[in-house]
Amino acid sequence: MSDNQYDIAVIGAGPGGYVAALKAGQMGAKVAVIEKHHLGGTCLNYGCIPSKALLASAELMHKINSASSYGVTVGAPSFDWTAIQKRKDKVLTKLRGGIKGLFGARKVTLYTGSAQFDGPGKLTVTDAKGKTEAITAKKVIIASGSVPARIPGWPTDPNLVCTSDEALHWDALPQRLMIVGGGVIGCEFACMMHEYGVQVTVVEMMPELLPEMEPALGQALRQVFIKRGMQILTNVKVEDMTAAGAGVKATISGGTVLEIDKVLVATGRRPNTADLNLGSIGLDTDRGFIRVNNRMQSTVNDVYCIGDANGQCLLAHAASAHGITAVEDALGHGKDFDLPIPGAVYTFPEIGSVGMTSVQAAKQGIPIKIGNFPIGFLGKAMAVGEEFGFAQVIRHREDESLLGIHVIGHNATEIIEAGTAMLTTKASSRDLAEMVFAHPTIGEAVKEAAEDAFDQALHSPPKSVATLMAAVK
Ligand code: FAD
Repeated sequence: MSDNQYDIAVIGAGPGGYVAALKAGQMGAKVAVIEKHHLGGTCLNYGCIPSKALLASAELMHKINSASSYGVTVGAPSFDWTAIQKRKDKVLTKLRGGIKGLFGARKVTLYTGSAQFDGPGKLTVTDAKGKTEAITAKKVIIASGSVPARIPGWPTDPNLVCTSDEALHWDALPQRLMIVGGGVIGCEFACMMHEYGVQVTVVEMMPELLPEMEPALGQALRQVFIKRGMQILTNVKVEDMTAAGAGVKATISGGTVLEIDKVLVATGRRPNTADLNLGSIGLDTDRGFIRVNNRMQSTVNDVYCIGDANGQCLLAHAASAHGITAVEDALGHGKDFDLPIPGAVYTFPEIGSVGMTSVQAAKQGIPIKIGNFPIGFLGKAMAVGEEFGFAQVIRHREDESLLGIHVIGHNATEIIEAGTAMLTTKASSRDLAEMVFAHPTIGEAVKEAAEDAFDQALHSPPKSVATLMAAVK
């Protein structure tokens, strides 16, 4: 094989592309990755990691504010935004270096530039100076990700109306911020910005925050946010937005005009596939998304698409899992991908969720029974002063299969891994109820919720004897 010929070429080095490349290297393939920007893609540079670094400083201040309730005396916390940003940037630099090191170890060739198809199996890479290089590959994996959606007709000056791309790297904080969209990204920003003293308004056109998750989670988070002093407007739409001096005027449903300093648009993301010259290989898209089957194969032979660009699940760990599926298939070891993908929200309190929601079950006509358990009943919750939240387990009413697990509360994003393991191994809801959890942990709420789904939770007030007896097999 000549220098520029590869078994596999991967377009994009986000969590989909870089993991696919490492897997291909591990399996002995000659592999190239083309990345036009930073290693790590959206997740490392404009998403998961920077947002969690900024949230970590915010959560620390939140915790310090309640220090006296633990008998600890400290002064009121203050912060240095430049230092917080520097800490975040240090984390990003370290992680980018880590990916580069891993590429070296797996003999992955990295091209820095923008890739375009130039016919089947052929790619042209153009670097920042306009220099081009041609490469060929037996299989191509598209992992070009997504970019934030912007709203046509609204001010385009990012100092007034911006997306998460800019907001994660702000030099200074606004006084009054409107967040349009109460999904995961909107809620994480609301939570952190409020802690940094920003006056936050969230506008969500659906009836509840986190509209795609189990409804009780969004309801609980809304209560927390309102109690902290944020303005949360649900069932409300932003009808119009105009620049007004150094700020913005937003007209919302009903005609009320809100004056704010900055707007963060968090209404969704669109696929980043327009510049790939897909026409040259006859690949059609569906509103920009490249549709794939369970092996990540597109409709064109030897071309795969993974991660955000295929629109199946816009999460980093989904992109990585897709990457492994695509590479295994490309190298002759294919199997369908059908594993449950957990969702996590890094607000404080955190949210972890996996499997079916009650709304999805109702739509599919599946008979369910829901078990609940308040985290505040747990010894660990009281001991560590984190009593807010609950766990919910959804089981099939008739065959007892485990359908979904939803948790809001301290460490929920870690706890959900246990639920994901149970769903992945197709354990039943009774298996979850009978599993032994370490004590004292917040995770015990999941076991108790599973028990409650059989009316058998020991640490909840007893149900009627008749109900209990009916549940005992
Ligand atoms: P991307 O990460 O978008 O990477 C695509 C890469 O391809 C980019 O680096 C891009 O420069 C490159 N590229 C594109 N076109 C070309 C081309 N023609 N040539 C060369 N290179 C190209 N997900 C989670 O799971 N957990 C979280 O906590 C989380 N938090 C988030 C917070 C925010 C604020 C945002 C915006 C997103 C968050 N996400 C989170 C989502 C997550 O970032 C994405 O799902 C994930 O990055 C998708 O990975 P990907 O590999 O498909 O694409």
